[in-house]
Amino acid sequence: MDTIWMAQGNCADAPPSTFFPSDGVGVEVARRICGTCPVKDQCLEHALESRIDHGVWGGCSERERRRILKRRRDLALSATR
Ligand code: SF4
Repeated sequence: MDTIWMAQGNCADAPPSTFFPSDGVGVEVARRICGTCPVKDQCLEHALESRIDHGVWGGCSERERRRILKRRRDLALSATR
């Protein structure tokens, strides 16, 4: 798995706890940092492919990632019909 991109993320020098918030305010703080991250797309795909349940990855919360995965499953299903 290629994870070289991780060192290029805006979070490289931030405390990891920033990206594992316990409330909505914390999620917004993390999302703001992710918003300008140059490896945001790789980060989000990594979290989706690895089925990472916790934390903010690629600017998306757990709930948002679940929605993206559901949408992709639904699309894949409809493509087979
Ligand atoms: S998108 Fe966010 S969590 Fe991912 S590498 Fe960038 S700053 Fe870090």
